[in-house]
Amino acid sequence: MQPRFQAAFAALPSPLQAALQPLLTDTFPAFFTPEQMAAIRTETGLDNRELTFALLPLAAACAVAPLSRFNVGALALGRSGHLYFGANMEFSGATMQQTVHAEQSAVTHAWLRGEKGLEAITVNYTPCGHCRQFMNELNSGTALRIHLPGREPATLGDYLPDAFGPRDLAIETLLLDEVDHGLTITGDALVRAALEAANRSHAPYSQALSGVALQMADGAIFAGSYAENAAFNPSLPPLQAALILLNLAGYDVLQIQRAVLAEAPDARLIQRQATAATLQALGCATLQTVPLR
Ligand SMILES: [Zn+2]
Repeated sequence: MQPRFQAAFAALPSPLQAALQPLLTDTFPAFFTPEQMAAIRTETGLDNRELTFALLPLAAACAVAPLSRFNVGALALGRSGHLYFGANMEFSGATMQQTVHAEQSAVTHAWLRGEKGLEAITVNYTPCGHCRQFMNELNSGTALRIHLPGREPATLGDYLPDAFGPRDLAIETLLLDEVDHGLTITGDALVRAALEAANRSHAPYSQALSGVALQMADGAIFAGSYAENAAFNPSLPPLQAALILLNLAGYDVLQIQRAVLAEAPDARLIQRQATAATLQALGCATLQTVPLR
C-alpha cells in the first residue's frame, strides 16, 4: 500500500479494510471499476452512497497541501460506473493561481481517463464558488449530483443558482464531450503524449489548444489537456491536468525529469511562461515546447 493511504486506511471499518486491502496496492490507479465497486458493496453491505462517503478519507489522503495543510478529497462517479479519486494540490514557490482544487482534480482525472460524462461528485467539504463554476462547464450541466457529508443529496443547480455557463456563450462542445481537433501527432513518446493531450483539449473560448506531458525517472508519462471555463478564471492549465494524474498515480511532483508543452506559437493565449514558472518551482528546470500543426 502507498504510505499516504496508511493512516486513513487504519481508521476505516474492518469489513471495508478487508475489501479494499487487495486493491490498494503500490500501483493502485486511484479509481475503482464498476466491478470492483460492486464487489466492495457485496463484501461490506454498504450501498453506493455509503461506500463513496466511506472512501472520502482515502481521496483526501492524496492531497498535496504544503501551504494550507487542509486536505480536501473528492470522488467523481462517471456514467460508466467508475469512481475516480481527486484531491487538492498546492505548489510551494509558485503562485496561488496555480493551485488545484479537489473537485477539479476528480473531474480532470475522470476526463483524462476517457470518461464521457459524470453522474455525481462527492466531496468532504462544501465546494467553493470557483469549483461550482468549474463543474458548470461539464456536459452534465446543473444536473450533476453533489454529495456532501451530513447534507441531503442536491444538484449543482442547487449550489449554483442562476448559473452562467457555456450555453450562455453558445458553446456546443462541453467539458467531457469527446473531441478530436485533428492535430498531427508525431515525435517521441513524450512529445506525442503532449500533442495527443492538446488534441483533446477544451478551449472553445480562445481556440488556444494546449497539452503538457511529464516524464518520471522510471519512464512513466503523464499528459494533461487544457480545460477552459466560460467564466475564464476557473480554467485549468494543461500542466495542472498532468500534475493531477501524476499525483493520483502515486508519483512525487518534485521528481519530474522531463516536460513537454504542445501549443501554437501564435495562439491567442500562451501557456509557456506560466508552465515554465510552475515547473521551475517544482525543480524541473527545462520545458520543451513543440508547435501544433
Ligand atoms: Zn474549490
